[in-house]
Amino acid sequence: MQRMRAGQNSRHCVAELRVYFRPMKFSDLGLSSELLRAVAEKGYDTPTPIQRQAIPAVLGGRDVLAGAQTGTGKTAGFVLPLLQRLVAADGRAPRVLVLTPTRELAAQVAESARVYGRYTNLRTTVIFGGVSEKPQIGALRSGCDILIATPGRLLDLVDQRALDLSRIKHFVLDEADRMLDMGFIHDIKRIIRLLPVSRPNLMFSATYSDDIRNLAARFLRDPISIEVASRNTTAERIEQVAFAVPKEMKRHLLVHLFDHGASGEGTWHQVLVFTRTKHGANRLVQQLENAGIRAAAIHGNKSQGARVRALADFKEGNIAALVATEVASRGLDIKELPQVVNYELPNVPEDYVHRIGRTARAGSTGRAVSLVSPDETGLLRDIERTMRRSVPFLPTPKIDVREPKPPATRPNASPEKRVAPAPRSKGPGGRPGPRSNRSRRVRRSRNAH
Ligand code: AMP
Repeated sequence: MQRMRAGQNSRHCVAELRVYFRPMKFSDLGLSSELLRAVAEKGYDTPTPIQRQAIPAVLGGRDVLAGAQTGTGKTAGFVLPLLQRLVAADGRAPRVLVLTPTRELAAQVAESARVYGRYTNLRTTVIFGGVSEKPQIGALRSGCDILIATPGRLLDLVDQRALDLSRIKHFVLDEADRMLDMGFIHDIKRIIRLLPVSRPNLMFSATYSDDIRNLAARFLRDPISIEVASRNTTAERIEQVAFAVPKEMKRHLLVHLFDHGASGEGTWHQVLVFTRTKHGANRLVQQLENAGIRAAAIHGNKSQGARVRALADFKEGNIAALVATEVASRGLDIKELPQVVNYELPNVPEDYVHRIGRTARAGSTGRAVSLVSPDETGLLRDIERTMRRSVPFLPTPKIDVREPKPPATRPNASPEKRVAPAPRSKGPGGRPGPRSNRSRRVRRSRNAH
């Protein structure tokens, strides 16, 4: 009898432990069946660490201060519980306001809200500058529950009385550190003053400076603090390597890497390349195009239409290189992006972490390759110190420098002219030379159009 009871107890214990150690499911978080259905269709199995912590906190109406960057699943971490708190469409004026620093991030958060909310009747509207206000005003007039906005356009529409913030019940400040870097502090303070006094607030920031702490202290009330991965550890899944290369040889090395890969992995097909300046980004696009690599730039001087097109072309594989300045380093969400190249190192070590964080997202792995000229070795040291990790140098390959021919004699100098197959040069022994990879890439692009 005694033995039997002991056996029963231990079986009971094992069952309990199984429940305890069972990987958490979205259904354990108290989300509605409509949201669970949308999440399941998205293919998510288990909530990420930030989702596990943020969803119950937001459902419970708490203020949240989360140290999490893009790539951790933070968007679903706040969008899902906010959708649940709104329940159903109601009235015309928005009840949730999400402020983001960039148009790209605003568009992505709005897309997530629409996908996660597809089985609710909640209405999501996104507003940002660089495009006509009219459709945005129209969308607001026809009724909106969740508003995703960049600060400038939001204030413009408030000033025009096209937007009523008096019903906002939840306020989310996304990528707060980026907001401050971009000089939005006064806009943020003004927007906060326009909101109803009593409401839960959520603030996400990848880094914590004194300014961020001051801002948090200003408008968060007794927040739950969530820290999922410090900025120094997020880069762990990313293989990071560097090449020492004189400045004037960088573009030739980059073309070589597109053709051969960094360490024998073969031709590169989808690479996000970071430059420091908009002008440098445009110039590099031209140089890559001249070398037969389809490329587009994404930076603050590009119209919203051009940015959206470049990103879509890149995601669909129509272009092999997306050349971006810092503005694109946060918020960009490209599934299984294999490589990020730092054509120039950023001045601020944290920016390096954000840049390389565009690869290895949501649990996948990726590679970050930095081209380091002699004047940048100090910057690399600062980056290594910040990450508490060193970035090994690979031997710089011998580069076959071929200056592009003048456009008139070069059939593939611009995308339009690349209808004819690029000439196929022969390498040693009659094997296709390096150009063949590029020709293949151009042909692949053409087919994809
Ligand atoms: P975010 O940090 O919100 O930008 O999300 C980064 C990426 O992770 C996006 O592509 C999401 O679709 C994806 N993601 C978010 N939550 C999950 C999850 N629970 N499981 C798998 N992928 C997810």
